Amino acid sequence: MAARKSKVALGFASASGASDAPGFIPASDASGLAAVPTASDLAAVPTASGTPASTLASLRQPIYNPAFECASRDEVRARQFELLIEQVAWAYERVPFYREQFDAIGLRPADIRTHDDVRKIPFTTKSALRDTYPYGLIAVPLNEIIRLHASSGTTGKPIVVGYTRDDIEQWRYCIMSVAQMAGVVPGDRAQMAFGYGMFTGGFGLHYGMEGLGVMMIPASAGNTERHIMMIEDYGTTVLIATPSYALHICEVGERLGYDWEKSQLRVGLFGGEPCSPKLKAEIESRMHIFCTDNYGLTEVMGPGVSGECLSARDQQHIVEDHFYWEVIDPETLEPVPDGCPGELVLTPLQKKGIPLLRYRTRDLTSVTTEPCGCGRTSARMDKVRRRSDDMLIIRGTNVYPSQIEDVLAGIAGASAYYRLEVDNATGLDRLTLNLEVEPAVFTDSFTEMDIFRRSVADKLRAVLQVSVVVRLVEPGSIERVMGKTKHVEDRRE
Ligand SMILES: [Zn+2]
Repeated sequence: MAARKSKVALGFASASGASDAPGFIPASDASGLAAVPTASDLAAVPTASGTPASTLASLRQPIYNPAFECASRDEVRARQFELLIEQVAWAYERVPFYREQFDAIGLRPADIRTHDDVRKIPFTTKSALRDTYPYGLIAVPLNEIIRLHASSGTTGKPIVVGYTRDDIEQWRYCIMSVAQMAGVVPGDRAQMAFGYGMFTGGFGLHYGMEGLGVMMIPASAGNTERHIMMIEDYGTTVLIATPSYALHICEVGERLGYDWEKSQLRVGLFGGEPCSPKLKAEIESRMHIFCTDNYGLTEVMGPGVSGECLSARDQQHIVEDHFYWEVIDPETLEPVPDGCPGELVLTPLQKKGIPLLRYRTRDLTSVTTEPCGCGRTSARMDKVRRRSDDMLIIRGTNVYPSQIEDVLAGIAGASAYYRLEVDNATGLDRLTLNLEVEPAVFTDSFTEMDIFRRSVADKLRAVLQVSVVVRLVEPGSIERVMGKTKHVEDRRE
């Protein structure tokens, strides 16, 4: 278990700024008039290695907008529906793409009268954004768009999203909500390790965190040693990075003899790629920080869709006054029951620049509306670790990289770094796992390494139902990247 930092000395303050909207409430009191948490409340936050539920329940946590985030489910659903109706009308009246879609099936915005009616609205997929590149879905005159972002595709043109001034404000609200879920408070000092380009992560989080009263340190991507120097010299308390880059910073620091326990770093705000529980636990124990995931996608806004609170590890509260969520069976397209896995479908509720109705994210998750120990009533989605389109089909069997991560998480000596290769050079699909071995297990003894290798292969075959060629590689030999780690290389012809 990671040692907990008790040295945090932050000026806790109402995050939402206005004196009549206190930023903090305890889990048991939604009045908004609660005592401000002390530094030791946050210092007692559990790490991935586990903390008894009794400790979690007693935590007091910052909540950005308790009036909504702690409202009853009926109030939340009613407010969502109100916003959704306005959004449907906005899209229908202003975007020819939507008007055509509605008209083709004889649907009018006025036909949407209940939550069940929402299912009449056609889904939107990524191709709608691609086919209308770059400005086809924009609902306002172009001179009202004050920012563009884009997400790079692996093929062809990127998808482009535009934001009005109001959209940028709303985005900031979402980021502030998500940052407070992770325990970030005014007075924190956040170091950005994402790049600031067309990618939504850099600017989106930057302005949101500034809105909260956090000191932003726009270090940007690259130059790991400089990152470590800045963490030390500027007293950085929050690191914004992909989890794999955070681990890289950690390793470089260790090599340089930097003592992470002595740093003021307290929170990792991770995004950009899925973070396996093993990777999270590893970073927490080595860097002595609390790691949180947050989720978002460029198409609907960027980061700020949902964030991990300090109570429900590996689940993320959805910012429900901005996102109407549904979970569907990706094959039948029918809704799945509460808590059951399926594909997440999102409708941004307050977006004016590019309204999107029922956007199919392709991300597989499940959503629960059970109350949370943090005091929020907002729905929680499971960490997204699978996409309906990153499934590999190996000799007819479905394999997800996350299944492999789950198996590796249970094997002592297997590191979080791996790379999968798929080829069919021999005529049959072959799946090869290049796995980095922990330094403690790595030896020169061929026999010992071979026993280890075979045990990994056996465990994988038992879970995946396909055989996997396992190749062990030296610690540090799999490339560390700044951005998203590419775990799979599919060379099949
Ligand atoms: Zn929570």
